[in-house]
Amino acid sequence: MREDDLARRGIGMTSQRTRERLIQRLCEEGISNPQVLEVIRRTPRHLFVDEALAHRAYEDTALPIGNNQTISQPFIVAHMSELLLEAGPLDKVLEIGTGSGYQTAILSQLVERVFSVERIKVLQDRAKERLLELNLRNVVFRWGDGCEGWPALAPYNGIIVTAVAPEVPQALLDQLAPGGRMVIPVGATGELQQLMLIVREENGFSQRALGAVRFVPLLNGPVA
Ligand code: SAH
Repeated sequence: MREDDLARRGIGMTSQRTRERLIQRLCEEGISNPQVLEVIRRTPRHLFVDEALAHRAYEDTALPIGNNQTISQPFIVAHMSELLLEAGPLDKVLEIGTGSGYQTAILSQLVERVFSVERIKVLQDRAKERLLELNLRNVVFRWGDGCEGWPALAPYNGIIVTAVAPEVPQALLDQLAPGGRMVIPVGATGELQQLMLIVREENGFSQRALGAVRFVPLLNGPVA
């Protein structure tokens, strides 16, 4: 077997030991949902970054994925997934900002169906290929402006947004099912942003701020 084939199969610099260290670190940082940890342990994050960066794939850090975008930090992916699942299992989850597809891949192993919207076509195409390669087939992709959500398939029990907006888009609030949960960073690009958990209650929405985060901006309109 050639060396790059070995690397792709998770041997060498992307070895199980390196992955275990990441899981240990996530535990130390407070991630406690065993399913989330198990799914992160078995998902090959090195397949979601450029080969030149594969040796850094199991560091707890965001990495560039081209088109000025980044693959989210594993801690953030774990934390957001844990928050979504905190009140029990979810069947329909809308994701805004597919990016590399890594968060999508994690979610697809934790919930029944994922609906994922991305505005940059080339990123979406690559993400689609990766999920097929991993045989994760409960994901539907849409190329478009995630600020509008995906109204045709609403409502969703969970919504996750992986880019920051100055405020929560109204369309996303409208598409949240009763009792549904949304995890979204809110704030300005390059400034202090807050991760928010929003729950659709019987009369309106409740909000919880969960600490400072740093995301790339939620932008308008699709790009080829
Ligand atoms: N969870 C992804 C994070 C990617 S970064 C990962 O781990 O790889 C955020 C992504 O949001 C980028 O791919 C960006 O193109 C996308 N994005 C930004 N604004 C958007 C919008 N209005 N609609 C859909 N996607 C958007």
